[in-house]
Amino acid sequence: MQFIEALKLRSKLFFLFLLITVGLFALGFIGTNYVNAMKKNMDSLYFGSLIPVTELNEIVKTYSYDLAATVYKVRRGEISPSEAAFKIETSLEYINKKWQSYKSHFKTEEELYYLEYADLEINRANNYFSKVLKAVKASKNLAHISITTLEKKVETIHNVLEKLINYEVNMANYERKKFLYTYDSILLKIGTSLGLIIVGLLIILVYVFESIQKDQTRLEIAAKKLKLVNKKLENASYTDSLTNLHNRRYFNFIYEREVKRAKRNKAYITFMMLDIDYFKQYNDTYGHLAGDEALKSVAKVFKERLKRPGDYVFRLGGEEFGVLLSDTSETNSANIAREICTAVKGLEIKHEASKVSHLLTISIGVVCCIADDALDEDALIFRADEMLYEAKESGRDRYAITSNASKTKIA
Ligand code: GH3
Ligand code: MG
Ligand code: MG
Repeated sequence: MQFIEALKLRSKLFFLFLLITVGLFALGFIGTNYVNAMKKNMDSLYFGSLIPVTELNEIVKTYSYDLAATVYKVRRGEISPSEAAFKIETSLEYINKKWQSYKSHFKTEEELYYLEYADLEINRANNYFSKVLKAVKASKNLAHISITTLEKKVETIHNVLEKLINYEVNMANYERKKFLYTYDSILLKIGTSLGLIIVGLLIILVYVFESIQKDQTRLEIAAKKLKLVNKKLENASYTDSLTNLHNRRYFNFIYEREVKRAKRNKAYITFMMLDIDYFKQYNDTYGHLAGDEALKSVAKVFKERLKRPGDYVFRLGGEEFGVLLSDTSETNSANIAREICTAVKGLEIKHEASKVSHLLTISIGVVCCIADDALDEDALIFRADEMLYEAKESGRDRYAITSNASKTKIA
């Protein structure tokens, strides 16, 4: 059974199909063989016993009812000699035919012994009737035919054939018993072999089914694992490794989707561009590694503050971040921007080289508007960038907000 385990699922199914087919053929073959054996038994019962008994009875009847009766009638003048001659002739022919046919059936040694004797007696009787036939044909006076002799002849042949009939009937009974016994044993053989084949088939089928089921479970587990790995890969491909925020790739995907949704719903959409102030100087003062740590801390603040399902924070590149909010009014957006600025400063990351504070600060450009069909998707980014520039220009550590999302530069 080890080899079944080693097969591929397709081969297992093919094996299953093959097994069922072979099983059905085996059942058919065995069934046909046994039915043929039954037929042979039936034939031997029919041709070995039933036919011979019928033939012998016919012969006995012909001697009594045709031959003897004809002789009586012609003797009494009830029928004409020519009619009697015809009857005797045809009856003798008939008896001969039946007797030859009877002898042609298979006989055992003991039967042959008695058969020779019976043959002799039949010949004698036939000779006697042939002589009677001659006399009838010659239209002699038939009165000299002795009734006693006739009756004796008929009785003798009757006794001889009666013995044969009894023997054949006994044989028929014996053959029938034999047939019934064979029938029972054939039935038992059919039952046993069919049972063995079916049980064997079932055992192998159960084994193959179990093996297929195991394969399926293995496949299901593998598919689940693959799904999980895919999910992880997908997440990794959308995540920035330093800050664990969504990356630019994910921004490209989400930004378009969210703007379209806001347009459909004619709802508020807010986009913010966030940039650390004097970060170049921070790196120069504290080193690149400290800069990375600062980026992580700032990212953590963004994540903690923006937790609603519709809020998205992205690291767009370097020390630049993007925030996308849906269904948030201008006042609320401004409040959020202010809170983020305060929270970053609240981290109290020392930045001695900054020209606006001794702590690390950020500037935010915010655009918040109700999305309509006229809204240009790029305009949001463009305008947020402009607002960031404005926040930087007007002193940093602050936000600048607009609800004008057109690409035309603000004077
Ligand atoms: P401003 O206030 O005008 O924004 O001044 P700034 O110095 O921040 O100017 P700018 O935004 O042009 O500087 C970006 C600097 O951020 C340049 C680079 O040294 C630093 N930076 C960009 N990516 C990383 C990073 O992954 N890790 C670290 N440590 N620093 C980065
Ligand atoms: Mg900067
Ligand atoms: Mg920058």
